[in-house]
Amino acid sequence: MDEQLTLYDYGPIPETCGLPGVPARVTAQHRDRYEIVCPAGPAYARLKTGAFHTGEGSFPTVGDYVMVRNNETGDSQILCTLPRRSYFSRRAPGPVPKDQAIAANFDYVFILQSMNHNFNLRRLERYLALAWQSGAAPVIALTKSDLTPDRSAFLAQAESAAPGVAVHAVSARTGEGIQELSPYLTSGKTLVFLGSSGVGKSSLVNALAGEELMVTGNIREADSRGRHTTTYRQLIRLDSGVMIIDTPGMRELGMSEASDGLESVFADVERFLGKCRFSDCRHAGEPGCAVRAAIDAGELDPVRWESYRKLQSEAQGRREMLRQKREWSKGVAMSNKLRKKMREG
Ligand code: GDP
Ligand code: ZN
Repeated sequence: MDEQLTLYDYGPIPETCGLPGVPARVTAQHRDRYEIVCPAGPAYARLKTGAFHTGEGSFPTVGDYVMVRNNETGDSQILCTLPRRSYFSRRAPGPVPKDQAIAANFDYVFILQSMNHNFNLRRLERYLALAWQSGAAPVIALTKSDLTPDRSAFLAQAESAAPGVAVHAVSARTGEGIQELSPYLTSGKTLVFLGSSGVGKSSLVNALAGEELMVTGNIREADSRGRHTTTYRQLIRLDSGVMIIDTPGMRELGMSEASDGLESVFADVERFLGKCRFSDCRHAGEPGCAVRAAIDAGELDPVRWESYRKLQSEAQGRREMLRQKREWSKGVAMSNKLRKKMREG
């Protein structure tokens, strides 16, 4: 634990909830103990007894901002979880099905697919829907670009499936494209990574960090005991001030949703997305709109379409969505400029 850093190094502090305490961010979660960082620095914390068992209020997860009461002699007490600007959750097992957050308050969802047999447009679309639903902005990274002579075909396919979303070809091995990601890698931003196992998530994180933070496939194969394998949930802060949430739950989310979850929930709607004539189609009567055409042809239930739209907007709230979109298009514009500059130079 780095003793120097305080909450101010861990992103923007949200409004508090009025309870008497100080804001903090959850940086790691153990069985029933949390690592947090407060305005005064890092500390350990536990949930206030009884405070989270009334059914109201979300249990904190990694990345969450919480209110804590400091304890001079022991672990601080977590009083409540502050509202999230984005999160991923999974259905927690139990008699009453309940959503359990597994990562919170991230700015960008990096969706990774490698440019080989792993490349799959349907899965890409599902990841995208998950990302939009989370409230954060998706960024697509097509990995292992050193393995293919034909990046442009992969790029074109991904771009058509993800209108308006930035797509980058990267190689952790050669460093190609890594520089293109710099617009997203600014101090105070939090990132999460989605992608199936072996796609190169750990390698990319290491490339971004400039050090071997994560155990990659090579080492896992060579040393199955996994020297640095993460077994708990954590938020890693790089020297650049960029934060990465890495939790086993995120990896499961990436894999399990491929067989259930959102795929089955909105597959009927999703198959019409990304097929409109205009890549920025708002599906509000524009010519060549595949969604409208499907509704008119009776292939898509308008009620389903409405609930899909609602779900997407509810996930983040109108204002927040607009703010993020603005920021995100700034990032896209910057990265496009960069890409152009690199092409020319
Ligand atoms: P993860 O399971 O998604 O974290 O994937 P890893 O980062 O562990 O990578 C899986 C395998 O792909 C390892 O053998 C890596 O060496 C390899 N790999 C990762 N990135 C690249 C890349 O850019 N190019 C090539 N050729 N191989 C890569
Ligand atoms: Zn449309």
